[in-house]
Amino acid sequence: MKSPMSVAHYYETMEYGPAPEADGEARAWLKKHGAVFGHFVGGEFVAPHAGKHFPTFEPATGKTLARIAKGSAADVDRAVSAARMAQPLWERLGGYGRARHLYALARMLQRHARLFAVLEAIDNGKPLRETRDLDIPLAARHFLHHAGWAQLQERELADQLPIGVIGQIVPWNFPLLMLAWKIAPALAVGNTVVLKPAEFTSLTALLFAELAAQAGLPSGVLNVVSGDGTTGAMLVGHPGIDKIAFTGSTEVGRLIRQVTAGSGMSLTLELGGKSPFIVFEDADIDGAVEGVVDAIWFNQGQVCCAGSRLLVQESVAETFRKRLIRRMDSLRVGPPLDKAIDIGAVISPVQLERIRSLVETGVREGAVKYQAATELPQEGCFYPPTLLWNVHPSSTVAIEEIFGPVLVAMTFRTPDEAVMLANNTRYGLAASVWSETIGLALDVAPKLMAGVVWINATNLFDASVGFGGYRESGFGREGGREGIYEYLKPKAWSMRKQRVKPSVMSVSHDDPGLELPLIDRTPKLFIGGKQVRPDGNYARAVLSPKGRHLGEVGEGNRKDIRNAVAAARSAEAWSKATAHNRAQILYYLAENLSARSDEFAARIAALTGATIVEAKVEVNASIERLFSYGAWADKYEGAVHAPPLRGVALAMHEPIGVVGVACPDEAPLLALVSLVAPLIAMGNRVVAVPSERHPLAATDFYQVIETSDVPAGVINIVTGPRDGLVKVLAEHDDVDALWVFGSREASAAAEKLSSGNLKRTLVDHGFMMDWHDKLASEGPILLRHAVQVKNIWIPYGD
Ligand code: NDP
Repeated sequence: MKSPMSVAHYYETMEYGPAPEADGEARAWLKKHGAVFGHFVGGEFVAPHAGKHFPTFEPATGKTLARIAKGSAADVDRAVSAARMAQPLWERLGGYGRARHLYALARMLQRHARLFAVLEAIDNGKPLRETRDLDIPLAARHFLHHAGWAQLQERELADQLPIGVIGQIVPWNFPLLMLAWKIAPALAVGNTVVLKPAEFTSLTALLFAELAAQAGLPSGVLNVVSGDGTTGAMLVGHPGIDKIAFTGSTEVGRLIRQVTAGSGMSLTLELGGKSPFIVFEDADIDGAVEGVVDAIWFNQGQVCCAGSRLLVQESVAETFRKRLIRRMDSLRVGPPLDKAIDIGAVISPVQLERIRSLVETGVREGAVKYQAATELPQEGCFYPPTLLWNVHPSSTVAIEEIFGPVLVAMTFRTPDEAVMLANNTRYGLAASVWSETIGLALDVAPKLMAGVVWINATNLFDASVGFGGYRESGFGREGGREGIYEYLKPKAWSMRKQRVKPSVMSVSHDDPGLELPLIDRTPKLFIGGKQVRPDGNYARAVLSPKGRHLGEVGEGNRKDIRNAVAAARSAEAWSKATAHNRAQILYYLAENLSARSDEFAARIAALTGATIVEAKVEVNASIERLFSYGAWADKYEGAVHAPPLRGVALAMHEPIGVVGVACPDEAPLLALVSLVAPLIAMGNRVVAVPSERHPLAATDFYQVIETSDVPAGVINIVTGPRDGLVKVLAEHDDVDALWVFGSREASAAAEKLSSGNLKRTLVDHGFMMDWHDKLASEGPILLRHAVQVKNIWIPYGD
């Protein structure tokens, strides 16, 4: 017991007085607009075409703040036209010109930081302390950082072009920050934008657009159309949009994937999470408790990467629980403008109800609930910091994103068990690892299926460090070099032409002339390192261009794909093999192909009708390509970022996992090699469906694979009806990514059917690639799609 006269006693019993921030300037801005807002299109506010508005509320009081325009199809159309008109000039302005504008936007945010911080706190309910110290400065940092990318674009990104008009949809949890994450990179490299803010929180986007215009941003470069999900859906479905960048729920993200499938629109999705917060017994327990506060009670827990699943080692679990509860009791919940509160208001009554109901479910399913002994304001949407202890991994609250100030906790005994529990989720956005043993922390970080890992830290963000998920947390990155590529497309692909459908061929009984003799064997499929008969035991004829029967190949089916995927799954050791080892095997493949180059050239000539000289060029290009990826295997490396903190963030290139590959009919050997080699160079395992017309080029390749020490299951080849097999691959939940080259229909099916587990897709939309053009089909242009970047934050010092 502390003496009543001691400093510690006063420290612990001291009461906070209210410390409200003045909101006069924000209210005056609302008043200036009569608290009614139109869309911001073409550099000015415009009334909604259908004249409809909806109210926006203050979560802390429930009072109406303003009336916001509800976007209709006509409004979206108008905004897309304004963005389209503005885009060519904005692109032609050049990197330096755009850098000047982005710099001006950063300065504008800094100048009006207080106004933005207050308006955001009122509109969203989050504490001013957070908007002032995180949302606004970080938003400004994004514009500053990306002004830098604009400046360097012509030198560092010279082989890329802007995508065009970008539709961006953001959620309500970080309204201005998400705006900055989205529009800064898009504008930096020459795109123009139509942004739809969340229905609950449109105000800071409208303020931003207004002040950006005053700061000289050309009209039409940034357009804001407000509205609800139906307005978002109109933007997604608009044919004038070249790319959608979305942050929000996995459910809506999946819908957007389906709607945009086959349209040629590019897409990035930053979705939900259920991120683990792992505390090992050797962690600094008090530091980790403080980490939990930042992980789950920051922004009322309405954070996609919130450390919402506490995994604590059994030996320290009780100590940790007690200290956490003690800390919870000192958290203050209150009005967002009070600078002395820790937790503000939840966004809306709907969200509050969702949180309540999930917590009840958790308790019903066996969790022990503790809620902080903190006073809640009488009115508004407030929820106390909540701990659900003793949660079973299969409990609803351990699986579902709660998106509120609720921590679910479970224990583990060994590091392996911690990794298993951590990865036991469909999501993969972020993870925190707490241990004072650097070897343990750095061993565990790469094993976690998450796009961001914080070591002895949590919720660190920076414009120079990519952010984004694995698995159902979405694809694409925001921030860093990898983030800038999301708003660019390769110059080398811009001249591609749509493929003309090959005419259907029938077997010819004409005199074969000088063609090669018939082949009387039926190559099998190649699965798990062995040549195996197709499950259905059917074969299909392979014809020469003149329709002559050249041989037969196995007709792969659904079951063969399943077996091939299972073989690829179990070849996991390849993903952990050293890059040196993978390089050696790629060189060995090249060496063995080289030894048989004449035979391959003859086969290609017979299959495709190319001359022997042309066929030899293809074989030699394939050998060189294997050499090239042998070279890249240990050179396509990650980066060490230097965000503004004491420490580093390691951007690691990790394999995606099992990748399905469909090959086109053009250059049947070279295309197969060009697609498979970058994937295996980066540690992925592949299930390839070769050219449907010329599969014998691939089946001959089995023997090269067999003699080159490629571990079983790393490359699997299933011949047969390509587009049908693509569908099976797209629907298979153990396939992590899909590369589809060869047909527009297969590209569309791949995008649509892969929405189940949100596979990363790279498709050609029916455009033909020149496989002999190294700029278009070799190196980073494909390697970028063969890796996913994990950023591991390692702060150091005290
Ligand atoms: P949504 O995914 O519904 O909303 C995100 C954005 O998409 C909003 O601007 C929304 O508009 C818009 N939108 C909604 N439907 C469509 C559609 N069909 N097509 C295009 N755009 C659409 O998230 P919610 O705000 O409804 O939140 C629901 C849950 O999602 C939360 O409880 C939380 O679990 C999760 N979530 C995750 C976030 C993350 O960052 N990972 C962020 C926000 C929520 P509008 O706001 O007008 O509905």
